[in-house]
Amino acid sequence: MVNELAWDGQYSSEEFEQKYTYNKKDLGAAWSKEHTTFRVWAPLASACSVVGYKEGDKESKEQLFEVPMEPSEQGTWAAEVMGDLHGVYYTYKATIRDEQVEACDPYAKAVGVNGDRAMVIDLARSNPEGWGEDQNPNKELAINDAIIYELHVRDFSIDEHSGMQHKGEFLAFTEQGTTNEYGQSTGVDYLKDLGITHVHLLPVYDYGSVDERDRDSAFNWGYDPKNYNVPEGTYATNPYDGEVRIREMKQMVKSLHDNGISVIMDVVYNHVYDAGSFCFNQLVPGYFTRISKDGVYSNGSYCGNDTASERSMVHNYIVQSILYWMEEFHIDGFRFDLVGLIDIDTINELVREVKAIRPDVIFYGEGWDMPTVVTKNDCKMAIQMNSQLTPDFAYFNDSIRDLMKGKYSDVTEAGYVNGAKGKVDELKGNLMGMPYWAPSPAQVVQYSSCHDDLGIYDRLQIASKGADKETLAAYNRLAAAIVFLSEGIPFIHAGEEFLRTKVNEEGKIISNSYNSPDYVNKIRWNQLHDEVCAETRAYYKGLIAFRKAHSALRLRTAEEVRKAFYFMPALEGEAIAYQIDAREIESEQADQILVILNPETTTTTITLPKGKWDVFVEGKQAGTNAIATVEGTVEVPPISTMVLVQ
Ligand code: CA
Repeated sequence: MVNELAWDGQYSSEEFEQKYTYNKKDLGAAWSKEHTTFRVWAPLASACSVVGYKEGDKESKEQLFEVPMEPSEQGTWAAEVMGDLHGVYYTYKATIRDEQVEACDPYAKAVGVNGDRAMVIDLARSNPEGWGEDQNPNKELAINDAIIYELHVRDFSIDEHSGMQHKGEFLAFTEQGTTNEYGQSTGVDYLKDLGITHVHLLPVYDYGSVDERDRDSAFNWGYDPKNYNVPEGTYATNPYDGEVRIREMKQMVKSLHDNGISVIMDVVYNHVYDAGSFCFNQLVPGYFTRISKDGVYSNGSYCGNDTASERSMVHNYIVQSILYWMEEFHIDGFRFDLVGLIDIDTINELVREVKAIRPDVIFYGEGWDMPTVVTKNDCKMAIQMNSQLTPDFAYFNDSIRDLMKGKYSDVTEAGYVNGAKGKVDELKGNLMGMPYWAPSPAQVVQYSSCHDDLGIYDRLQIASKGADKETLAAYNRLAAAIVFLSEGIPFIHAGEEFLRTKVNEEGKIISNSYNSPDYVNKIRWNQLHDEVCAETRAYYKGLIAFRKAHSALRLRTAEEVRKAFYFMPALEGEAIAYQIDAREIESEQADQILVILNPETTTTTITLPKGKWDVFVEGKQAGTNAIATVEGTVEVPPISTMVLVQ
């Protein structure tokens, strides 16, 4: 339902905002043993009531009560219902311009199946044992120290060889001692062994595209938010009981924390699953969403609608939602989907409010410049080019991604790692963690692939037709070396470290697998047994360990990087060598680190700066134990990286 108020500018007018901005944080249902207070923001309503139900399923009609709500401050309506209402499902009924709507609570903290009805909850009952002591195991790390692993909850465990019992569920993350068919570690043990510091989970809030009554009937990444402050039901052992998904998500977080791994949530505030039926828009028609003067939804997200983050109550909503996940679920970082659609005031405020409580929480997002219709003048969006205006917020670096493997828009194009020429100059700034748009390496997420588009290995297969597996793995190692040996924040897509490929049953590579079946998306744990895959995994693990051992690779400011970095001139072909002078870098044992990237199909000979050098990365090997000691000149084999330390 698109309402004229949305596009005549009233919602975004100063007058409307003064009259109707509600700044307190008590919207939703506040439970106590004696009574529950409901408060909803519905400034256009002429009447409101709260309806209690026995079941969360919208097909079930058994009503427990309908209590009228009283108009209250700043466009809110409130009611108090006596008794212990924990476990009671509810909706709001509102009369708006003579029409009656019934909607889920936009501020719901628990919901029934498919998120159609909210549930009153005493949140303390959803806490797993030991929750009070649970905390970020990596709270001392700065964002540059993070090693991020992007993972979909279902992909993680759904493979028949995953060894995990709770396939496709949050609880799979609580299982230990799990193995594949060959007895190799899988699951959380595997993640711990790899050495990553942060797991970044694809959407785990309640999304709309998979029927929670029949979760195996469809697959989705989940970029279609339905209830922002509630976990997704298909990942729970029971999606009907609103308490279960909350407890199980907390159990997942706690288990990861107990294993030394921090948890990042992928959040999608930029659009909703369906703007018309989204509960906020039902109760305040069109308010949550940008609508152009012609009365059509702005669609910079290419998902059908864009969130009007510039409006005061959407702004408050996003800020409070992030605070809630951080406080209630102990989330350690947030990855913002299409953050280029969200205004910088909202981003800066939520970062400020979170950091005031927990400075260890990290933030990054997709800062692409999207064609959206903002409802206020002079709104600046959180895009790469505005990164200076959002200093504690990092952005994905598509420059290094495309330099490494070729432009995303042409899958047959090669990149630096598989033979493209002329990339050296641009790559240098990117290796320093300073692409043209970035003021600091602390704002640059370095990656070769993520869930979107082709994974690195599939991309290499397509662009280097006919190359054998060994050669493709060598290209892949070079890309991994660039990610882990450059300044910035390293990020990998789950399974890329053992040559994950997304193919369907006909053997066709799938580029956009957002709704492809498990066959395409699942992590194939038995692949760890394959020799080339195992070598690649060991190489990633070695690079991670090496990076963790050297703070010179984790510099936090542009100034430090400029001071320490030196590129060796006049190398053969496209080879690049850079030396990091680490003598003055805090908590760094090495004096000098020399990285040589050789994408050429021939050996590159380098004359080393004087003195003896220990080799830590060479050919297929990487790690924290010296492989050899050299001086004078070194020969760097074709398509490989060498790292030397003095
Ligand atoms: Ca759902």
